[in-house]
Amino acid sequence: PLQAGIVGLPNVGKSTLFNAITKAGAEAANYPFCTIDPNVGVVEVPDVRLQGLAEIVHPKRIVPTAFEFVDIAGLVKGASQGEGLGNRFLGHIREVDAIVHVVRCFENGDITHVSGSVDPLRDIETIEIELILADLETVQKRLDRAKKNMKSGDKKFKVEADALERLAAALEAGQPGRSVELSDDETALLRDLHLLTTKPILYVANVGEDEAADSSGNPHVEAVRQRAASEQAQVVVVSAQLEAEIAELEGEDRDAFLADLGLAEAGLDKLIRSAYDLLGLRTYFTAGEPEVRAWTIREGTKAPQAAGVIHSDFERGFIRAEVVAFEDLIRAGSYTAAREQGKVRLEGKDYIVEDGDVMHFRFNV
Ligand code: GDP
Repeated sequence: PLQAGIVGLPNVGKSTLFNAITKAGAEAANYPFCTIDPNVGVVEVPDVRLQGLAEIVHPKRIVPTAFEFVDIAGLVKGASQGEGLGNRFLGHIREVDAIVHVVRCFENGDITHVSGSVDPLRDIETIEIELILADLETVQKRLDRAKKNMKSGDKKFKVEADALERLAAALEAGQPGRSVELSDDETALLRDLHLLTTKPILYVANVGEDEAADSSGNPHVEAVRQRAASEQAQVVVVSAQLEAEIAELEGEDRDAFLADLGLAEAGLDKLIRSAYDLLGLRTYFTAGEPEVRAWTIREGTKAPQAAGVIHSDFERGFIRAEVVAFEDLIRAGSYTAAREQGKVRLEGKDYIVEDGDVMHFRFNV
């Protein structure tokens, strides 16, 4: 499954947030394909549509789709220079699909800040510089090789070298790789570099408990928002401390606690959904009597590959899929009614699955 890595300077609240994530964690039995690793937290992706489907199908159980967060602690100033364990942590970031950058926006004299004061913009830059320097090294190595290879006359290396030159120029100027526009061909050629600064990013502004519901008085949050807007990134405001408490509760207790705090939903749920969107993920459903279940696919996934998320046999033996859009099924009120209204379609192997499709696969075993 796809993973988002949680990064940030020491003492900003990463462990607190990660603990909240593992406490709220999904039951492993439902997700045997998820990673078993103490640094990976598996969470369920909240989706109100599951309840809508359950009212129509009356299943024995409801299973949301899952998502993984990886705790990448230990990123410090100087990491790209191989100081301490820094380089190993950069290696872990290479493996994730998106970055969740936690910044400290809460003031608390008792908790020391590594740089002496609360300043999320400086923190963002400190981390980003490390990522940029690491990428610059990667890009320069590859550029040297591409230049040598160009002598072979293979055009591919010229395309590669051009793209690398542009990346190197941006990185040298302190700009992340994602600021460089690359064609699909160039992106494909450079994918195996796993550049850190081309990964999609999302900021978590960690605020005090009393600011979770309304952070408008916190200038640090505003600063992070402006910074994020300038790079089309998202910001999620949470109080990690509070999330850890919310994660201990379930059902009505949880609802009551959230209402008390004036929160419409847990910050963690907001974070999960934002991370899901950030990765361009989509959800389709299967709805039968044993279970109503959500499944994750990337945008643009075709029906057989979507079936493969459930089981590789479904992909291999795929014949076709019966598809009804979630809205159509809810409006019709039942499968039978949806079918009578002609809303249930038969789709083949080239069908691109849409978010909210309710799918029933036919396959050969
Ligand atoms: P990490 O080094 O980034 O993993 O930071 P920790 O999660 O260990 O947090 C550092 C300190 O900040 C701990 O003492 C936490 O209790 C405290 N802390 C974390 N989040 C919050 C928060 O939302 N509000 C307040 N007041 N303190 C927090």
